[in-house]
Amino acid sequence: MKLGIIGGGQLGRMLALAAYPLGIDVRTLEPSPDAPAGRLTEQIIAAYDDRQALAAFAAGLDLVTYEFENVPVQSAAFLAERLPVHPGPRALEVAQDRLHEKTFFRSLNIPTPGFAPVASPAELRRAVADLGLPAVLKTRRLGYDGKGQYVIARAADLDAAWEALGGVPLILEEHVDFSRELSILAARSTGGEIALYPLVENHHRGGILRLSLAPAPDRDGALNRQAESLARRVLEELGYAGLLAIELFERDGVLLANEMAPRVHNSGHWTIEGAETSQFEQHLRAITGLPLGATTARGLSAMVNLIGTLPPIEPILALPGAHLHLYQKAPRPGRKLGHITLRAADTRKLQQTVLAIAQLVPELPARSLI
Ligand code: AMP
Repeated sequence: MKLGIIGGGQLGRMLALAAYPLGIDVRTLEPSPDAPAGRLTEQIIAAYDDRQALAAFAAGLDLVTYEFENVPVQSAAFLAERLPVHPGPRALEVAQDRLHEKTFFRSLNIPTPGFAPVASPAELRRAVADLGLPAVLKTRRLGYDGKGQYVIARAADLDAAWEALGGVPLILEEHVDFSRELSILAARSTGGEIALYPLVENHHRGGILRLSLAPAPDRDGALNRQAESLARRVLEELGYAGLLAIELFERDGVLLANEMAPRVHNSGHWTIEGAETSQFEQHLRAITGLPLGATTARGLSAMVNLIGTLPPIEPILALPGAHLHLYQKAPRPGRKLGHITLRAADTRKLQQTVLAIAQLVPELPARSLI
Protein backbone atom coordinates (compact mmCIF):
# COMPACT_ATOMS: atom_id res chain seq x y z
CA MET A 1 0.00 0.00 0.00
CA LYS A 2 1.18 3.51 -0.76
CA LEU A 3 0.01 6.52 1.26
CA GLY A 4 0.31 10.17 0.26
CA ILE A 5 0.75 12.75 3.00
CA ILE A 6 0.17 16.42 2.24
CA GLY A 7 2.79 18.27 4.25
CA GLY A 8 6.30 17.14 5.14
CA GLY A 9 6.81 18.53 8.64
CA GLN A 10 7.51 16.58 11.82
CA LEU A 11 3.98 15.19 11.92
CA GLY A 12 4.42 13.77 8.42
CA ARG A 13 7.77 12.38 9.49
CA MET A 14 6.33 10.61 12.54
CA LEU A 15 3.43 9.30 10.44
CA ALA A 16 5.97 7.85 8.00
CA LEU A 17 7.92 6.27 10.87
CA ALA A 18 4.70 4.56 11.99
CA ALA A 19 3.73 3.56 8.44
CA TYR A 20 6.73 1.39 7.59
CA PRO A 21 6.15 -1.36 10.20
CA LEU A 22 2.58 -1.65 8.85
CA GLY A 23 3.99 -2.24 5.38
CA ILE A 24 2.86 1.14 4.07
CA ASP A 25 5.07 3.20 1.73
CA VAL A 26 4.87 6.98 1.94
CA ARG A 27 5.07 9.85 -0.53
CA THR A 28 4.87 13.44 0.72
CA LEU A 29 3.89 16.68 -1.01
CA GLU A 30 5.79 19.61 0.45
CA PRO A 31 7.12 22.90 -0.95
CA SER A 32 10.23 23.03 1.24
CA PRO A 33 13.12 20.81 0.02
CA ASP A 34 14.61 20.24 3.49
CA ALA A 35 11.42 19.45 5.42
CA PRO A 36 11.65 16.79 8.21
CA ALA A 37 9.67 14.08 6.37
CA GLY A 38 11.66 14.48 3.14
CA ARG A 39 14.60 12.51 4.48
CA LEU A 40 12.43 9.45 5.05
CA THR A 41 9.92 9.53 2.22
CA GLU A 42 9.59 9.93 -1.48
CA GLN A 43 8.95 13.66 -1.76
CA ILE A 44 7.30 15.84 -4.37
CA ILE A 45 8.54 19.38 -3.87
CA ALA A 46 5.75 21.71 -4.96
CA ALA A 47 3.12 24.12 -3.71
CA TYR A 48 -0.01 22.55 -2.18
CA ASP A 49 -2.21 24.10 -4.86
CA ASP A 50 -0.07 23.17 -7.89
CA ARG A 51 -2.52 21.11 -10.01
CA GLN A 52 0.18 19.41 -12.07
CA ALA A 53 2.11 18.43 -8.94
CA LEU A 54 -1.11 17.22 -7.27
CA ALA A 55 -1.79 14.94 -10.26
CA ALA A 56 1.78 13.57 -10.12
CA PHE A 57 1.44 13.15 -6.35
CA ALA A 58 -1.81 11.18 -6.72
CA ALA A 59 -0.46 8.83 -9.42
CA GLY A 60 0.05 5.34 -7.96
CA LEU A 61 -1.20 6.20 -4.47
CA ASP A 62 -3.93 4.19 -2.72
CA LEU A 63 -4.93 6.86 -0.22
CA VAL A 64 -4.18 10.43 0.84
CA THR A 65 -4.05 12.10 4.25
CA TYR A 66 -2.57 15.35 5.55
CA GLU A 67 -0.53 16.54 8.48
CA PHE A 68 -1.79 20.14 8.77
CA GLU A 69 -5.28 21.61 8.57
CA ASN A 70 -4.60 24.49 6.21
CA VAL A 71 -4.48 22.27 3.15
CA PRO A 72 -6.35 24.23 0.42
CA VAL A 73 -9.86 22.72 0.32
CA GLN A 74 -9.74 22.78 -3.51
CA SER A 75 -6.57 20.64 -3.45
CA ALA A 76 -8.27 18.11 -1.14
CA ALA A 77 -11.32 18.09 -3.43
CA PHE A 78 -9.10 17.66 -6.54
CA LEU A 79 -7.43 14.63 -4.93
CA ALA A 80 -10.74 13.25 -3.60
CA GLU A 81 -11.99 12.95 -7.20
CA ARG A 82 -9.13 10.51 -7.85
CA LEU A 83 -8.68 8.53 -4.63
CA PRO A 84 -9.84 8.36 -0.99
CA VAL A 85 -8.80 11.37 1.13
CA HIS A 86 -9.13 10.99 4.91
CA PRO A 87 -10.15 12.86 7.00
CA GLY A 88 -12.81 14.18 4.59
CA PRO A 89 -13.17 17.74 3.27
CA ARG A 90 -15.91 18.72 5.75
CA ALA A 91 -13.55 18.27 8.70
CA LEU A 92 -11.04 20.54 6.92
CA GLU A 93 -13.64 23.20 6.20
CA VAL A 94 -14.86 23.27 9.80
CA ALA A 95 -11.36 23.30 11.31
CA GLN A 96 -10.00 26.00 9.00
CA ASP A 97 -12.34 28.69 10.30
CA ARG A 98 -12.63 29.42 14.01
CA LEU A 99 -16.15 30.80 13.60
CA HIS A 100 -17.39 27.67 11.76
CA GLU A 101 -15.62 25.51 14.32
CA LYS A 102 -17.26 27.13 17.36
CA THR A 103 -20.66 27.25 15.61
CA PHE A 104 -20.24 23.55 14.82
CA PHE A 105 -19.42 22.71 18.46
CA ARG A 106 -22.43 24.70 19.61
CA SER A 107 -24.70 22.86 17.15
CA LEU A 108 -23.67 19.61 18.90
CA ASN A 109 -24.40 21.06 22.36
CA ILE A 110 -20.69 21.16 23.14
CA PRO A 111 -19.90 24.10 25.46
CA THR A 112 -17.51 26.74 24.03
CA PRO A 113 -16.24 30.12 25.24
CA GLY A 114 -18.70 32.89 24.29
CA PHE A 115 -17.93 34.19 20.79
CA ALA A 116 -19.09 36.60 18.09
CA PRO A 117 -18.01 37.31 14.49
CA VAL A 118 -16.24 40.64 13.90
CA ALA A 119 -15.81 42.30 10.49
CA SER A 120 -15.68 46.01 11.38
CA PRO A 121 -14.70 48.32 14.27
CA ALA A 122 -18.43 48.85 15.00
CA GLU A 123 -18.98 45.08 15.23
CA LEU A 124 -15.96 44.81 17.52
CA ARG A 125 -17.47 47.40 19.89
CA ARG A 126 -20.81 45.55 19.84
CA ALA A 127 -19.14 42.17 20.46
CA VAL A 128 -17.18 43.60 23.39
CA ALA A 129 -20.41 45.05 24.84
CA ASP A 130 -22.01 41.56 24.57
CA LEU A 131 -19.13 39.37 25.76
CA GLY A 132 -17.43 41.74 28.21
CA LEU A 133 -13.71 42.15 28.90
CA PRO A 134 -11.14 40.70 28.93
CA ALA A 135 -11.68 39.11 25.53
CA VAL A 136 -9.49 37.60 22.79
CA LEU A 137 -9.66 38.86 19.21
CA LYS A 138 -8.50 36.21 16.71
CA THR A 139 -8.26 35.88 12.94
CA ARG A 140 -10.85 33.34 11.82
CA ARG A 141 -8.35 31.60 9.54
CA LEU A 142 -4.65 30.68 9.55
CA GLY A 143 -3.84 31.34 13.21
CA TYR A 144 -1.59 28.88 15.04
CA ASP A 145 0.58 28.77 18.15
CA GLY A 146 -1.00 32.00 19.44
CA LYS A 147 -0.34 33.91 16.19
CA GLY A 148 -3.14 36.13 14.87
CA GLN A 149 -4.47 36.79 18.39
CA TYR A 150 -4.85 39.91 20.52
CA VAL A 151 -5.95 39.92 24.14
CA ILE A 152 -8.16 42.95 24.80
CA ALA A 153 -7.87 43.74 28.50
CA ARG A 154 -9.48 47.22 28.57
CA ALA A 155 -11.77 49.29 26.35
CA ALA A 156 -8.71 51.46 25.55
CA ASP A 157 -7.16 48.45 23.71
CA LEU A 158 -9.90 48.24 21.08
CA ASP A 159 -8.27 50.48 18.46
CA ALA A 160 -4.88 48.79 18.85
CA ALA A 161 -6.50 45.33 18.52
CA TRP A 162 -8.33 46.38 15.36
CA GLU A 163 -5.12 47.99 14.06
CA ALA A 164 -3.20 44.73 14.67
CA LEU A 165 -5.68 42.28 13.12
CA GLY A 166 -8.42 44.18 11.23
CA GLY A 167 -8.93 43.76 7.47
CA VAL A 168 -9.54 39.99 7.55
CA PRO A 169 -12.56 38.18 9.07
CA LEU A 170 -12.20 37.97 12.85
CA ILE A 171 -13.82 36.34 15.85
CA LEU A 172 -14.03 37.78 19.35
CA GLU A 173 -13.99 35.26 22.19
CA GLU A 174 -14.65 35.58 25.85
CA HIS A 175 -11.31 35.31 27.69
CA VAL A 176 -11.70 32.13 29.71
CA ASP A 177 -10.22 32.11 33.19
CA PHE A 178 -9.53 28.39 32.92
CA SER A 179 -8.01 26.18 35.60
CA ARG A 180 -6.33 23.91 33.03
CA GLU A 181 -5.89 23.35 29.31
CA LEU A 182 -6.61 19.79 28.22
CA SER A 183 -6.93 17.90 24.96
CA ILE A 184 -8.50 14.69 23.83
CA LEU A 185 -7.16 12.52 21.02
CA ALA A 186 -9.94 10.57 19.38
CA ALA A 187 -9.92 8.17 16.45
CA ARG A 188 -12.64 6.79 14.22
CA SER A 189 -11.97 4.26 11.50
CA THR A 190 -13.51 4.13 8.02
CA GLY A 191 -15.59 1.23 9.41
CA GLY A 192 -17.00 3.41 12.23
CA GLU A 193 -14.95 1.98 15.12
CA ILE A 194 -14.05 4.60 17.76
CA ALA A 195 -11.10 4.70 20.18
CA LEU A 196 -10.42 7.49 22.68
CA TYR A 197 -7.22 8.27 24.56
CA PRO A 198 -7.25 9.55 28.14
CA LEU A 199 -7.28 13.36 28.54
CA VAL A 200 -3.94 15.16 28.27
CA GLU A 201 -3.00 18.24 30.35
CA ASN A 202 -1.20 20.93 28.32
CA HIS A 203 0.98 23.86 29.41
CA HIS A 204 1.80 26.72 27.03
CA ARG A 205 4.24 29.65 27.12
CA GLY A 206 4.05 32.43 24.55
CA GLY A 207 1.16 30.63 22.82
CA ILE A 208 3.30 27.51 22.15
CA LEU A 209 2.81 24.10 23.75
CA ARG A 210 5.76 23.37 26.06
CA LEU A 211 4.68 20.45 28.24
CA SER A 212 1.98 17.76 28.11
CA LEU A 213 1.13 15.38 30.95
CA ALA A 214 -0.73 12.18 30.27
CA PRO A 215 -3.02 10.85 31.48
CA ALA A 216 -4.20 14.19 32.93
CA PRO A 217 -5.15 13.96 36.62
CA ASP A 218 -8.94 13.48 36.77
CA ARG A 219 -9.94 12.29 40.21
CA ASP A 220 -13.35 10.75 39.59
CA GLY A 221 -13.12 10.42 35.80
CA ALA A 222 -15.85 13.05 35.27
CA LEU A 223 -13.76 15.15 32.89
CA ASN A 224 -12.83 12.11 30.80
CA ARG A 225 -16.50 11.21 30.53
CA GLN A 226 -17.33 14.73 29.28
CA ALA A 227 -14.44 14.66 26.81
CA GLU A 228 -15.37 11.22 25.48
CA SER A 229 -18.98 12.23 24.98
CA LEU A 230 -18.17 15.42 23.09
CA ALA A 231 -15.46 13.75 20.98
CA ARG A 232 -17.87 10.99 19.95
CA ARG A 233 -20.42 13.59 18.84
CA VAL A 234 -17.81 15.35 16.67
CA LEU A 235 -16.51 12.11 15.12
CA GLU A 236 -20.01 10.81 14.33
CA GLU A 237 -21.36 14.09 12.98
CA LEU A 238 -18.42 14.41 10.57
CA GLY A 239 -18.43 10.70 9.63
CA TYR A 240 -14.77 11.12 10.46
CA ALA A 241 -11.92 8.77 9.54
CA GLY A 242 -8.54 9.31 11.22
CA LEU A 243 -7.21 10.84 14.38
CA LEU A 244 -8.74 14.07 15.66
CA ALA A 245 -7.52 16.31 18.48
CA ILE A 246 -9.86 18.62 20.39
CA GLU A 247 -8.35 21.35 22.57
CA LEU A 248 -10.34 22.14 25.70
CA PHE A 249 -10.42 24.57 28.60
CA GLU A 250 -11.45 23.31 32.05
CA ARG A 251 -13.51 25.86 33.99
CA ASP A 252 -15.40 24.96 37.17
CA GLY A 253 -15.43 21.28 36.28
CA VAL A 254 -16.83 21.90 32.77
CA LEU A 255 -14.93 21.40 29.52
CA LEU A 256 -15.22 24.16 26.90
CA ALA A 257 -14.10 23.35 23.35
CA ASN A 258 -11.52 25.81 22.00
CA GLU A 259 -10.54 24.23 18.71
CA MET A 260 -10.02 20.98 16.87
CA ALA A 261 -7.28 19.66 14.60
CA PRO A 262 -8.29 17.03 12.01
CA ARG A 263 -4.88 15.34 12.22
CA VAL A 264 -2.30 13.95 14.58
CA HIS A 265 -1.41 16.52 17.22
CA ASN A 266 1.53 17.77 19.27
CA SER A 267 -0.31 16.93 22.51
CA GLY A 268 -0.41 13.29 21.34
CA HIS A 269 3.33 12.75 20.90
CA TRP A 270 3.50 11.07 24.32
CA THR A 271 1.55 8.14 22.86
CA ILE A 272 4.62 6.93 20.89
CA GLU A 273 6.11 5.49 24.07
CA GLY A 274 3.37 6.25 26.60
CA ALA A 275 0.36 4.42 25.13
CA GLU A 276 -0.28 0.94 23.83
CA THR A 277 -0.83 2.36 20.32
CA SER A 278 0.74 5.63 19.16
CA GLN A 279 -1.49 8.34 17.69
CA PHE A 280 0.43 7.98 14.41
CA GLU A 281 -0.22 4.27 14.09
CA GLN A 282 -3.82 4.83 15.19
CA HIS A 283 -4.34 7.41 12.45
CA LEU A 284 -2.98 4.99 9.85
CA ARG A 285 -5.13 2.14 11.15
CA ALA A 286 -8.19 4.42 11.10
CA ILE A 287 -7.77 5.70 7.53
CA THR A 288 -6.90 2.29 6.09
CA GLY A 289 -9.84 0.54 7.76
CA LEU A 290 -7.70 -1.66 10.02
CA PRO A 291 -8.86 -2.49 13.56
CA LEU A 292 -8.01 0.35 15.97
CA GLY A 293 -5.39 -0.26 18.65
CA ALA A 294 -5.72 -0.06 22.43
CA THR A 295 -5.37 3.47 23.82
CA THR A 296 -4.33 2.42 27.32
CA ALA A 297 -1.55 4.49 28.90
CA ARG A 298 1.68 2.71 29.86
CA GLY A 299 2.32 4.42 33.18
CA LEU A 300 2.60 8.23 33.29
CA SER A 301 4.17 10.37 30.59
CA ALA A 302 5.41 13.91 30.23
CA MET A 303 6.13 15.32 26.76
CA VAL A 304 8.53 18.24 26.59
CA ASN A 305 8.78 20.26 23.38
CA LEU A 306 12.23 21.45 22.29
CA ILE A 307 11.70 24.94 20.91
CA GLY A 308 14.10 27.37 19.26
CA THR A 309 17.38 25.79 20.40
CA LEU A 310 18.43 22.24 21.22
CA PRO A 311 19.69 21.35 24.70
CA PRO A 312 22.71 19.05 25.18
CA ILE A 313 21.57 15.56 24.31
CA GLU A 314 23.76 13.36 26.54
CA PRO A 315 22.33 14.44 29.92
CA ILE A 316 18.80 13.99 28.56
CA LEU A 317 19.44 10.46 27.36
CA ALA A 318 21.09 9.66 30.69
CA LEU A 319 17.76 10.24 32.49
CA PRO A 320 15.68 7.13 33.24
CA GLY A 321 12.63 6.78 30.99
CA ALA A 322 13.64 9.61 28.60
CA HIS A 323 13.02 9.22 24.87
CA LEU A 324 14.38 11.78 22.41
CA HIS A 325 12.85 12.70 19.05
CA LEU A 326 14.71 15.18 16.84
CA TYR A 327 13.07 16.51 13.69
CA GLN A 328 16.33 17.58 11.94
CA LYS A 329 15.17 21.17 11.46
CA ALA A 330 17.43 24.23 11.50
CA PRO A 331 17.18 26.07 14.85
CA ARG A 332 15.08 29.26 14.75
CA PRO A 333 13.32 31.13 17.58
CA GLY A 334 9.89 29.67 18.28
CA ARG A 335 10.44 26.65 16.02
CA LYS A 336 9.60 23.12 17.21
CA LEU A 337 12.87 21.21 16.75
CA GLY A 338 12.06 18.02 18.62
CA HIS A 339 10.49 16.60 21.75
CA ILE A 340 11.31 14.38 24.69
CA THR A 341 8.89 11.92 26.23
CA LEU A 342 9.54 10.95 29.83
CA ARG A 343 7.87 7.88 31.22
CA ALA A 344 7.58 6.96 34.88
CA ALA A 345 5.66 4.58 37.09
CA ASP A 346 4.38 7.25 39.50
CA THR A 347 3.89 11.02 39.81
CA ARG A 348 6.84 11.58 42.13
CA LYS A 349 9.32 9.92 39.77
CA LEU A 350 7.87 11.80 36.80
CA GLN A 351 8.18 15.12 38.63
CA GLN A 352 11.82 14.37 39.43
CA THR A 353 12.73 13.80 35.78
CA VAL A 354 10.72 16.79 34.54
CA LEU A 355 12.53 19.00 37.06
CA ALA A 356 15.86 17.58 35.88
CA ILE A 357 14.91 18.32 32.26
CA ALA A 358 13.91 21.87 33.26
CA GLN A 359 17.60 22.52 34.06
CA LEU A 360 18.37 21.82 30.40
CA VAL A 361 15.33 23.11 28.50
CA PRO A 362 14.55 26.85 28.70
CA GLU A 363 10.99 28.08 29.40
CA LEU A 364 9.73 24.71 30.56
CA PRO A 365 6.85 25.38 32.97
CA ALA A 366 7.96 22.52 35.24
CA ARG A 367 6.86 24.35 38.39
CA SER A 368 3.24 23.99 37.33
CA LEU A 369 3.66 20.28 38.03
CA ILE A 370 4.17 20.67 41.73
P1 AMP B 1 -5.45 28.80 20.06
O1 AMP B 1 -4.66 29.22 18.86
O2 AMP B 1 -6.90 29.12 19.97
O3 AMP B 1 -5.18 27.38 20.47
O4 AMP B 1 -4.88 29.67 21.28
C1 AMP B 1 -3.55 29.54 21.77
C2 AMP B 1 -3.55 29.67 23.28
O5 AMP B 1 -4.08 30.96 23.67
C3 AMP B 1 -4.46 28.66 23.98
O6 AMP B 1 -3.80 27.45 24.15
C4 AMP B 1 -4.76 29.39 25.29
O7 AMP B 1 -3.67 29.30 26.18
C5 AMP B 1 -4.89 30.84 24.85
N1 AMP B 1 -6.31 31.15 24.51
C6 AMP B 1 -6.89 31.02 23.30
N2 AMP B 1 -8.19 31.36 23.34
C7 AMP B 1 -8.46 31.71 24.61
C8 AMP B 1 -9.64 32.16 25.31
N3 AMP B 1 -10.81 32.33 24.67
N4 AMP B 1 -9.52 32.40 26.63
C9 AMP B 1 -8.35 32.25 27.28
N5 AMP B 1 -7.20 31.85 26.69
C10 AMP B 1 -7.24 31.58 25.38
